Formats: sequence, C-alpha cells, structure tokens
Amino acid sequence: MIPISQVDVGSAEEELVLAVLRSGQLAQGPMVRELEAGFAALSDCEHAVAVSSGTVALAVALECEGIGTGDEVITSPFTFVATVAAILSVGATVRFADIGADFNIDPQTVGPLVNSRTAAIVPVHLYGQAVDMPPIDRITRDNGLALIEDCAQAPGATVVGRPVGSFGTGCFSLYATKNVAAGEGGVLTTNDPEIADKARLLRNQGMRARYEYELIGHNYRLTDLQAAIAMPQLARLSDTTSRRRHNATVLSAGLAGIPGLIPPRAFEGRGHVWHQYTIRVTKHAKLNRNALSKWLTESGISSGVYYPKTVPNYTCYAEHPRIILDPTPEADAAASEVLSLPVHPHLSPAQLDQITACVRTAFDA
Ligand SMILES: *Cc1c(COP(=O)(O)O)cnc(C)c1O
Repeated sequence: MIPISQVDVGSAEEELVLAVLRSGQLAQGPMVRELEAGFAALSDCEHAVAVSSGTVALAVALECEGIGTGDEVITSPFTFVATVAAILSVGATVRFADIGADFNIDPQTVGPLVNSRTAAIVPVHLYGQAVDMPPIDRITRDNGLALIEDCAQAPGATVVGRPVGSFGTGCFSLYATKNVAAGEGGVLTTNDPEIADKARLLRNQGMRARYEYELIGHNYRLTDLQAAIAMPQLARLSDTTSRRRHNATVLSAGLAGIPGLIPPRAFEGRGHVWHQYTIRVTKHAKLNRNALSKWLTESGISSGVYYPKTVPNYTCYAEHPRIILDPTPEADAAASEVLSLPVHPHLSPAQLDQITACVRTAFDA
C-alpha cells in the first residue's frame, strides 16, 4: 500500500532524542528553546512560543488577544475541526466565510460578515497553500481586528514573498502527520513582544518567576523530547518541501486533461508546501469521488478525504449556541468533491507513475 503520509524520522532524530534522555531534562528546556528559534526564523518573526499542540496554539493566541464571550471570530468552514473548537474553547462565537478555488477563505466573503462584535479573523492555510493574505490583512487593519493564522498545514509556505505566521499570530502544529512532526506539539509565532510574553505566561500556569502568578494560566508546555524529534525535520524542511513540490508537479502532469478532474495548483504569488495534493472530482467526471477512492484503495494506493463535511455540517457544531450558520455553498461543494493523493517526500518515481496511471485507468483517460 502506498501510504497517504509517512513519518520522516531517522538517525538525526534518534540521536537527539537519546541526547535529551541522557541529559535528564525531559520537560521544557533548551531543546524547546532551539525549536522556538527555528520556528521564529522560518516564519520571519521575532518570537516563537512552543506549546503542547496546534489546537492549544490557536486557543492561546485567542486568549492573548483577550478574545472571549460576546466576540465574533470569522474563519473557514472547510478546515480541520480544531480551528473551530479552539475558537469555541475561549467562549467566542464562530462565523463562517466561504472559500475560493484555492480551498481557502475567500476575502470577498469575509468583509460582509464584519460587524461591531467581530474581534478576529482566523484564516487557515489549508493543504499547505497560503491564504490570499493582503486583502485579509487590510480588513483586519481597517477594522482593528486580531489576525490569527492557522498554519498547521503550511510551515514554510509564503504569499507575496512573506512566510505564513508573519502576518498575524501564527499557529503551527507538530502532530504526527504534519510537514514537521513530533507526534504532538504546537508553536505560536508573533512579532508582538506582549503577545509572546503573555503566551509564555499562559503556557506555564501564569507564572512569571518561581511561584509568582501574574495571571491564571494552564499547563500547555511542550517537552524537550518532542522538540528533539521536530528539530532535525525543521532543519530538513526546505529539502522535504522541494521533494513535495517536485511530486506535485509530476502528479499534475500525469493527471492533466482528464474530463471533470481538477488537479490542484499553486496560485500566483504563493509558495505552496503541498501538505496535501488534493484533486476535485466534479460531477462532470466519469466516476465520483468515493468511487475513485475505492478504486485507488483496491489498487494499493491510499487516499484521503480532507474533509468529508464542513465543520458546521456536524450536528454538534450546527446546534452549538455560539455557532452562526452563514451559507457557504463553495465549501459545501468542495467537501463533496475533494480527494487527496499521496504527495509525501518518500514517494519514488515508480510510485508517482503508479498513482497517475491508476487514476487515468479509473477514468478510461
Ligand atoms: C492539525 C491541525 C490543527 C490542530 O493541530 P493539533 O496539533 O492536532 O492540535 C489545527 N488546524 C488545522 C488546519 C490542522 O490541520
């Protein structure tokens, strides 16, 4: 079976984890600080604060901005559920803008949702492609809103030459399947020293110096063991991203011209990092999305539907009193058409050929 993702750890990770074990410093320590320096450099930010997960990074970012009860936060309905859960976790209300052809929040649909209760926008850089940030940046500045970027799927992605996580507060994930993986973990990036300072306090029980509590915090710390797994991958990120880009190019060449199938593309001015390679199987195609997925599985190729429904289409979210259901027809359409194919850095040329040949056979193309 060709897997949809493959953990990328080797001797560098093994050695660093062993070094941490032998150091006796298992909790947050020097390795976490090194990881923070690496993420600050990656996202061209002054500060980075490592936390226990990407979901926690989002919640901390919102808490740092003082967002809570009575505040509305605008985000994408076509995202991993954690984006929305994090907003609800701080007591805020969620509103959904629709998405564009890049699968990301469409700036044109954000503007009409802004009102006197709006406190923040949380764009999600889905599949590794940055959101069209300049217009989002403008809306947040014009209206005095906080900007919190969900960068979980896009470490290293750029738009207009700027890395994601540098426009507002960046929230990265180190979950096992992400482009930089530690099993679990998250990192928040910012150029605002006050946000960074508050995030550090919130992460560690609100403690400034030993037993001096400045605010009521949490235990959101990352361990040096996890940082040791992530560090070598961060060092290799530009290399693994190049391989993902190469694989995406090969897949798109091999899938060109199939009626009803839309391969993904990097939009003008965006540096896509290909966390996922996601095709659309439209109603004009010979097979539907689910039939193609089944065909691939039977042929030994894993694929994934990210995501089969928009978040507000799950009953527990739809019925939540702090979810406002705005219509998002483009997101609904995407949820029924998307299928992600393997694009990870360990694919061989033969496997890439196998994937495109298998899809072409399915469509008689
Ligand atoms: C993975 C992911 C998260 C959550 O990260 P965790 O580290 O799993 O908590 C949030 N948003 C998106 C878009 C993700 O893909």
